[in-house]
Amino acid sequence: MMLYEVPSGCGLKEVLEWEGVDLRDESLFFIFPDVPALNRAERLFLKHGLWGNRLLTFGKLASLLNRDMSVRLSRVGRLFLMEEVVEELADTFTYFKEPLIRGFSGSLVRLIAEFKHLKLTPDCLKEFAERLAEGVLKKKLIDLSGVFECYQKRLLGEGLVDDIDELALLSESIRNGRLGDVFPEAKRFFVFGFPDFTLTQVEVLKSIEERGYELRVFVPELSGFSTLRRRLSRKLGINPDDIRRLSLTSLRQRSVEIRSFPSFSEEVDFVSKEIKRLISEKGVRAEEICVVLRSFSEKAKDIVSGFDKLGLSYWVSRGISLKESLLGQFVIDLLEVKLSGFERKRFSHLLKSPFLSEFFKNTRCLESAVLELENKARKRRFQGGVREWLALLEESNLPRGFSESVKNLISLLNEGLNLGTLKGFCSDLIDLLDTLNVHMAVRRLSSTHRIHLFAWEKLSTLLRELRFLSNMGFEKAISPEECLFLLKDVFSEARFYLRSSEEERGVYVVEAFDLRGADFPYVFLLDVSERSFPMQFVQDAVLKDTERKVINGFMDGDFLLVEDIHYQDEELLFKLVCSSAKSSLWITYSQLDSRERAMLPSYLVEELAEEEGLAVKKETLKDRLLRAENVYTIYDLARYLFFTDSYREGELSEFLRQHWPHYERVISGVAAEKERLRNRGDFSGFEGVVKDLSFFKELSLSPTGLETYGRCPFRYFASRVLGLENLPEYEDDVSVLDTGGFYHRVLGNFFKALSSEMGGRVDLRTVGDDELIQKFRRFTEDINFSGEFGWLSPGIRELLKVKMLEEVLPTFILKEARRVREWNSKGFFPVSFEREVSFEFEGIRLRGVIDRVDIGDKGALVIDYKLGSPNTKRFCNPLHLQLPLYLFALKQEGITPYGGYYRFIEKPDEEKGESESGKGNIDAQIESALSYLRLYSSLIKRGFFAPVIEDKKACIDGLEVELRKDDYSTCGWCEFKDLCRVHGGVIRRYGG
Ligand code: SF4
Repeated sequence: MMLYEVPSGCGLKEVLEWEGVDLRDESLFFIFPDVPALNRAERLFLKHGLWGNRLLTFGKLASLLNRDMSVRLSRVGRLFLMEEVVEELADTFTYFKEPLIRGFSGSLVRLIAEFKHLKLTPDCLKEFAERLAEGVLKKKLIDLSGVFECYQKRLLGEGLVDDIDELALLSESIRNGRLGDVFPEAKRFFVFGFPDFTLTQVEVLKSIEERGYELRVFVPELSGFSTLRRRLSRKLGINPDDIRRLSLTSLRQRSVEIRSFPSFSEEVDFVSKEIKRLISEKGVRAEEICVVLRSFSEKAKDIVSGFDKLGLSYWVSRGISLKESLLGQFVIDLLEVKLSGFERKRFSHLLKSPFLSEFFKNTRCLESAVLELENKARKRRFQGGVREWLALLEESNLPRGFSESVKNLISLLNEGLNLGTLKGFCSDLIDLLDTLNVHMAVRRLSSTHRIHLFAWEKLSTLLRELRFLSNMGFEKAISPEECLFLLKDVFSEARFYLRSSEEERGVYVVEAFDLRGADFPYVFLLDVSERSFPMQFVQDAVLKDTERKVINGFMDGDFLLVEDIHYQDEELLFKLVCSSAKSSLWITYSQLDSRERAMLPSYLVEELAEEEGLAVKKETLKDRLLRAENVYTIYDLARYLFFTDSYREGELSEFLRQHWPHYERVISGVAAEKERLRNRGDFSGFEGVVKDLSFFKELSLSPTGLETYGRCPFRYFASRVLGLENLPEYEDDVSVLDTGGFYHRVLGNFFKALSSEMGGRVDLRTVGDDELIQKFRRFTEDINFSGEFGWLSPGIRELLKVKMLEEVLPTFILKEARRVREWNSKGFFPVSFEREVSFEFEGIRLRGVIDRVDIGDKGALVIDYKLGSPNTKRFCNPLHLQLPLYLFALKQEGITPYGGYYRFIEKPDEEKGESESGKGNIDAQIESALSYLRLYSSLIKRGFFAPVIEDKKACIDGLEVELRKDDYSTCGWCEFKDLCRVHGGVIRRYGG
């Protein structure tokens, strides 16, 4: 065996030229790491006649040589088998006792595969365990050797092999001369593009060599990766000094661009348009282009939909898991609906699935029928349940066919899915999907999104495989919950490939790992941020890094993957992806992740930029859309119009007006958005400045209304001027408003009752706590709680009743009684409750209701009940005007103001406020409140209702104000958030 290191930037073509290989030589065979490398090699060989089986992967070689020898168990089957092994051995485990970690079987499948690739056996694990002192690792190794042994026994017992056993069988077949039988003309093997090998792959290579074939192994250059080079040469049994290095000098320089974007969707937008341009303007073939992600996760779907929009053909390696697909989610939903007892939200969601469209095909306006049913269900506030749904369908006046179909669906799900055994479940699920006509819906949907067709093919194969496995002896009895768990697990493992058409290959969309050994003229490497490349090392759930190092020590080499090796592998992978671009390489990253958190580029990008002296180009959507050649779709056009202002007049707008019926709607949206985003300028009607002032001539305000205005004029406008109401409560929820209203009513009436019992004023000095609570209990007997909270379900209502009437209010009343007694002894007594006041100030009429007034010789105390949050409450400031203004109202009636307090019902120990007995100068504070009243009423009279949460005085003074939302206070509780036009960073001036 000869080992060559191939310099960076050099591909298969250069190696073959250097070796002087005649491509027509039928005695020469190749082994590549993956499909993309193999496909790229096909292109070289195409013009030289036969190539067929001469281009191989280990997997392809195994399937050709091991044919008829065994049945290969898929990843899903292995997982399924491992579940059974774990169940069988659970009682014997010394370390992995209950509760087992979630996904334990999946982790074991991966770990056992790693052991098998290293040619470790259960006996090796036992031997390692013997060498260890008592401890966690020893116990783990004993458990793992048991699992490994049982798994292997079960596998062979069923006559099955996994992909690693296949390689072992392959080595055996080759040693038995089967390679010569299948490829009689073969004399030489070139192995190309692997940066590393597993020991089972090395065994195959050794068996080829032992049979007398010439073997040359070409690996990427490993300079700078001394540990990886040492590991590789040890595996292959080659002295590092004997590694040869190809010296190729005439490599063409490739161009490299690094670009940063605000978000991943803009990376995709850029890349798909560059590709479109390469294909349509430069005549590049789609299959010459490769788009690479370190790992697909959800992002491959974004790339594919970007390509779909521009009509680009593509081929996606590895594919998408069934769990990520809409169809997979639909199947999981079917099961979850059943297991949840037809929970309202879940079932409503299921009814909207496009995969039920054929089942409901006799319903006209299906969407509105489903919406109506959903609304009726919400209004009835039931949580779910078959009986409730059936009763609702009976009573509702929905389209007849629709009601019947929904009933039918309920009965199919309820009775038709047998969850006792996996076998029964698979058969029932297949029948159910058939009855629901899902295949027809898939066919219809596939005309626009082929992804559904591929998902369907995968799902059908998977269900058949599961049924087959059940027939083979994996007759696992499972509970419904296990069934759902297993399905989710299996769906996340089952992947299907995406391709835009059957015939064409299109642009390759691959994960970095799949690119080994392949080169493309044009490569786009996306999403190279600090969080994605290098991929974070994830600790193995079963064997920790330190434990892996101990095992590596027994094997005298870094064979089991550990953290530092992982990062070296990642760096090498990045280098391989970069060197796979022969002509042009684009590297892109985003500054924000999907949750809008700031992100840095990967250090790998920064190092590359420094090495090659490259500057990062920052690009925005606006930069690109200002170039008309980037306009491909209707969305692009709308954005182009937005950025260029060309929607106003000129030939383009005239042309669009005539040929595109939606044009007027788009430009009114564009104009409004532009107005909203205008950086600086005066407040306009768009921000809530009303021109028709006749509306505000006769002003009638209230202290609470003024406080709302102080918080945000637009919020005041929406609630007090327009009279917009909050959305009704459909859910089992009680709003702050409902809670506060109820507490106020109860406290008001209870104190009124006490006062009339005591002759017109409340004096609690002779009333003990027990007696007071007895009185309160008697008082609450007459409260019609069901009438107050009629929309709640009975159970929830009962819990709320206990909380409000037996916990919160009694606690508050006892605490309040202590304060009342204290003030009683100072000569103050509660005398009026929910007292209406009305007063005039400089021509403005104000009205309000005071929760309680305590009168004493020195004047009046105003008491206001609040729910909670005492921290922000003040006696008087721009947002708190009630206490001083109520005192001012009483002063108008000839009552001396003495002080005022907020008392907090849900936080009874707290109190906020001031009185003359303390430091407060009440008259000065009343004056201050009146100045705010003057300011706010003057702005209201001018029609100023802009969403300004800052100091309003700045507006009157003509100063600039930044419009912004504040998610933690005012805006956090705002019912009109959706309506609000505030956009951060916009600055406005008023009055001037
Ligand atoms: S979200 Fe904030 S700024 Fe907008 S209306 Fe509500 S309170 Fe005012």
